[in-house]
Amino acid sequence: MKYHAIAIDGPSSSGKSTIAKIVAKKLNYLYVDTGAMYRAFTYACLKNKIDPKNEKESIKLIDKIEIDFNKENNVTLDGIDVSKEIREKEVNDNVSYISTYKDVRTHLIEAQRKIAYNHNVVMDGRDIGSYVLPFADVKIFQVAEVNERAKRRYKENLAKGIECSFEEILENLKKRDYIDSHREYSPLKRADDAITIDTTYMSIEEVSNNILKIIKEKGINI
Ligand code: C5P
Repeated sequence: MKYHAIAIDGPSSSGKSTIAKIVAKKLNYLYVDTGAMYRAFTYACLKNKIDPKNEKESIKLIDKIEIDFNKENNVTLDGIDVSKEIREKEVNDNVSYISTYKDVRTHLIEAQRKIAYNHNVVMDGRDIGSYVLPFADVKIFQVAEVNERAKRRYKENLAKGIECSFEEILENLKKRDYIDSHREYSPLKRADDAITIDTTYMSIEEVSNNILKIIKEKGINI
């Protein structure tokens, strides 16, 4: 590949986006949040009064909407920044159903590959190293114990003023972990050549320094 790609995969709330943003900034690469694309599609279904659990109806939207990123790197739906809306509870509760649909995945994966073929990227998701960019220069599989992930998400929501209960978050994470790792098409899976980092007891700085060290060892300029 002409450009470099760093793939960061792992379960929900394992800190992928925080780390991916730091690494992308340090390398001056484009950060691509693929979860935001699945979320934007889910939001589009809800907005169009389509039940995201109805595959037949949901996939009809594929050719009618456009999901992209703006200059600020926020996800857009038909040109409108929906980065706030995609974090709402209704999207959280439905995104993993949408993400099981083959046609949705094929469409969004094509868009993700197109970005990676034209930029140096740090891309985070569930299937980046294992399926979307199998030739990525560095593949990281970032994990953390589910209680710790729920704690982090709970704190984050409180700081943002989003009302929620710890139990509700924990249940949502467990449910998404299950659906994401058991779906038929490109499930959440560690690529054979990925390096696993358990962040449960690590600080953000420790994790990002660790990954930057791995990238440097691969001969990529930092
Ligand atoms: O990363 P985030 O938690 O925002 O992703 C939301 C959901 O999008 C995940 O729970 C998963 O169902 C789906 N997803 C996916 N493949 C990706 C990224 C996200 O299926 N590459």
